[in-house]
Amino acid sequence: MAAHLRLRGALALVTGGGGGIGRAVCRRLAREGASVAIADRDEAGAAETLRSLPPGDHEAVRVDVGRAESVAELVDRLQARFSRPATVCVSCAGITMDEFLLKQSEAAFDAVLRVNLKGTFLVTQAVARALVESGASGGSIINVGSVVGKVGNLGQVNYAASKAGVEALSKTAAKELARYGIRCNTVLPGFIRSPMTDKVPAKVLDKFAAMVPLGRLGEPEDVADVCAFLASEESRYITGASLEVTGGLFI
Ligand code: NAP
Repeated sequence: MAAHLRLRGALALVTGGGGGIGRAVCRRLAREGASVAIADRDEAGAAETLRSLPPGDHEAVRVDVGRAESVAELVDRLQARFSRPATVCVSCAGITMDEFLLKQSEAAFDAVLRVNLKGTFLVTQAVARALVESGASGGSIINVGSVVGKVGNLGQVNYAASKAGVEALSKTAAKELARYGIRCNTVLPGFIRSPMTDKVPAKVLDKFAAMVPLGRLGEPEDVADVCAFLASEESRYITGASLEVTGGLFI
């Protein structure tokens, strides 16, 4: 099968689809033939992603992944609009609120856990329930963690904890959902150029770039290509895995 049509006929839900990595994932999955539901709290960003996709049956939807009602509405809306559940789901929605441990507020800790970890839980659960209830023969859930969840990072005690949680959640989901033919994997990006890393001081990014064995920071497309592989049948025997997309950083 032509590589660019590995997802023909699939419906793919991408949260954070208005952001840097999410937008690249939406484009990549659409190029593979999928219909894409671009879900984000940033409506303007999601609309911009929609405009950038190749022709197809795509939709931009507002969601707050940290609220169960919002996620339930999203899944219901997809069912009504596309008459089928998403068989591919990529959870890219995420935030940072960086501060050193000694200064970190409870509010900043809670906010990051709410979006990154609870949001991934709510979306994974809702998508898996819809798939199981529909009797669909399989599905691929891809959650975006971070290599920081494995190694920690200065000023990111909340973020690192949330991303470690995403990995553990995904491995558990993989074990529980395998009987339904649903796979669940985690992608662990290193440092990728995006609106999220635009907030990081240039000298810090330069320091990390110099540490990357492949000699550069990542691009959103580097992550999107791995998501497309995990979404496709070419990864049919992979579940519960964590794939680092870091250029070799921290190996
Ligand atoms: P980004 O450009 O900031 O994109 C994240 C998107 O998620 C934004 O559009 C954001 O909207 C949206 N979002 C935030 N909270 C949300 C919520 N409650 N409900 C729905 N959408 C929400 O960041 P990115 O770099 O593409 O990151 C994508 C994912 O990769 C994140 O999970 C991030 O943690 C992870 N990651 C990124 C890197 C990196 O180096 N860039 C490395 C490792 C992992 P707003 O703009 O309104 O906040």
